[in-house]
Amino acid sequence: MIKPFDQMADRTGHLVPEGAYAFLAKAGQLEAAGREVIHLEIGQPDFQTFPNIGMAGIRAISTGQTRYTPPAGIPPLRKAIADYTAQRIDFPISPDQVVVGPGAKPLLFFPMMALLEPGDEVIYPDPGFPSYRAIIKTMGAEPVPIPLKEENDFSFDMDIFLEKINPRTRLIIINSPSNPTGGIIPGKDLAVIADSAKKNDAWVLSDEIYTRLVYSDEPVKSIMTFPGMSERTIIMDGFSKTYAMTGWRLGFGVMPKKLADTVDLLLTHSVGCTATFTQLAGIEALKGPQEPVEEVRKVYLKRRDFIVNGLNRIPGVTCLTPQGAFYVFPNVKHFNRSSDYIANYLLNEAGVCVLPGTSFGDMGEGYLRLCYSNSLEAIENALQKIASALAKL
Ligand code: PLP
Repeated sequence: MIKPFDQMADRTGHLVPEGAYAFLAKAGQLEAAGREVIHLEIGQPDFQTFPNIGMAGIRAISTGQTRYTPPAGIPPLRKAIADYTAQRIDFPISPDQVVVGPGAKPLLFFPMMALLEPGDEVIYPDPGFPSYRAIIKTMGAEPVPIPLKEENDFSFDMDIFLEKINPRTRLIIINSPSNPTGGIIPGKDLAVIADSAKKNDAWVLSDEIYTRLVYSDEPVKSIMTFPGMSERTIIMDGFSKTYAMTGWRLGFGVMPKKLADTVDLLLTHSVGCTATFTQLAGIEALKGPQEPVEEVRKVYLKRRDFIVNGLNRIPGVTCLTPQGAFYVFPNVKHFNRSSDYIANYLLNEAGVCVLPGTSFGDMGEGYLRLCYSNSLEAIENALQKIASALAKL
């Protein structure tokens, strides 16, 4: 049958906007009508890009560094990323395993495009970053969600994981620390995931974008460092969260060279390359002073403790203390309303914009996601407003 000319390809039919943008738009309407809204929805640092990084970008533009670069990134940045990641995860990495892209998202999209055939099964966390499912389905692959349960500190339910993994599993996506829960996958579970990946000949895509925002004393391990895993692991990482560079669009992947070469070709024929001055700013981010990253982490830690304590004081709300990222994922099941209802109610009634847990998958029902990248004053104000609105529910 001939399709109407304006009917989109089937592979796009499942796509929906990210929940954060939908709520941001609703909040924008209220603000346009004169209401004040406290924003705890969008997951980005409230800090400015550190000045030395910004200056490096400005210097690059003013000295004419504005031409095409090699699609996988300029060699000094690929080298800086290889050194940085090797030091962070304590494992050897060479620059030809590194691919640079405009944001971290392309390093989810293109490796999946390179690896997945229609019908391949892909394991991913639910609740999880919405782009995982969107990309899996765009590739015609089969999404296999694994619940992150509160009773496991929002780590994979390993019984269900072991039930679901099988030789048709082509890829396992993990994200530790996690968006939206802030949960961390314990080392013992990583070992089981690694063994199962090897047994079933599956790849692992490890989203490590929040690994510099960890509050526990124990360093977070990368699954790439487990025996036999470097040949089947893709680390996705980036500058957006660590260096407050969300709008610069700079991310990277670390993967076996053969896959890196294919991702390089996909970049060549899609984005072409990442902005030159952004890449030069990235070198400054990695090689310049790291103290600002640590200072910002300490500020987030204070906010985390403040928001977790505040939420747990609200009758009907319970909130775990997440060990990473800048999100909390409180349980609001007591109110017997859907997460979506409660998030809309808090926006309209209290003027506080948060996200329903279901923006991150079905298993997010009964939870809200709050991003605490806002000032302590704003968080305190939001907590008071949430408490009085919920008291009336
Ligand atoms: N992965 C996770 C878990 C995220 O939370 C985000 C951004 O919110 C990304 C990847 C994408 O990062 P970027 O903005 O660098 O594309």
